[in-house]
Amino acid sequence: MKEQGIVLKSTGSWYIVKTTKNEYVDCRIKGRFRIKGIRSTNPVAVGDRVKFIRSVDNTGVISDIEERDNYIIRKSTKLSKASHIIAANLDQAFLIVTLVMPRTSRGFIDRFLVTTEAYHIPCSIVFNKIDIYNEEMMDLYRELSDLYSSLGYPCYSVSALTGENVDELKKQLKGKTTLMSGHSGVGKSALINALDSNLDLRTGDLSDVHEKGKHTTTFAEMFELDFGANIVDTPGVKEFGLFDFDKLEVAERFPEFRAIMDECKFNNCSHVHEPGCAVIEAVKQGEIDIVRYENYISIINDDYFEIKEWD
Ligand code: GDP
Ligand code: ZN
Repeated sequence: MKEQGIVLKSTGSWYIVKTTKNEYVDCRIKGRFRIKGIRSTNPVAVGDRVKFIRSVDNTGVISDIEERDNYIIRKSTKLSKASHIIAANLDQAFLIVTLVMPRTSRGFIDRFLVTTEAYHIPCSIVFNKIDIYNEEMMDLYRELSDLYSSLGYPCYSVSALTGENVDELKKQLKGKTTLMSGHSGVGKSALINALDSNLDLRTGDLSDVHEKGKHTTTFAEMFELDFGANIVDTPGVKEFGLFDFDKLEVAERFPEFRAIMDECKFNNCSHVHEPGCAVIEAVKQGEIDIVRYENYISIINDDYFEIKEWD
């Protein structure tokens, strides 16, 4: 008889599956899984809903993968066509940023948002460490929060250290599976500890919690928080992005461009130099944020799109 569950973690050949009866079973896969349209190095990913058959030794063999609502991928290497599925079936993404210690760049934020748009995953931005923001930084927070919320990305200000607004985050996370990303040092581990004190992650070492002492992998992992929320951590976040992307499609990933681009004179407008471009006009009028536009130009000038630090 087949049992059902969700993949919480994969280590290459073994998968930890949580069954619908809240049991944890170590599973392997048998045979080859082919998912239409994806050439991936890993057939099963964190967040996948699977069916498995239990063996006498109480381990399982995964036999079926349910169709994914969505998934995020990373190219295995810069040149190869194969991809690695990082996580599947995400309800939303939370990008953790800071305005100080370290300051997250606008370029990084916009690239991340382009990626979540492309994968159709709703994204919120969490500004952490507000306990150390001065007046000037609070003004900047309000400015960015107004901008990004108006584009459809809810913004939150929190402090993992003092616990300020952490309850508000809990409300947003409850009952959902959330991809949590951010540069190291922004306080991702501290924040998860503040959300659920039972987890006690060592700060600076989020990905190591189930395998203390062993080498850290770049595999994603799902954490279950005590108030009924699942969080997916992706250690290799810098490497995920879009590949083989169509430059004309990038503008579609900017909601404020998408809203007006059918008013451009040319229907294949790249919004860079064309006369009669509605996007360029909106930038001139101050209706589109200039930094967002500059980041768009930077993205389409890249041959290879990945999430990386740049300014
Ligand atoms: P991660 O790499 O994103 O997991 O970041 P960590 O959770 O390891 O935090 C990096 C550093 O920032 C640590 O020294 C934390 O103590 C500190 N930190 C995290 N959250 C906050 C916060 O809300 N306020 C302040 N002042 N420091 C914080
Ligand atoms: Zn245009």
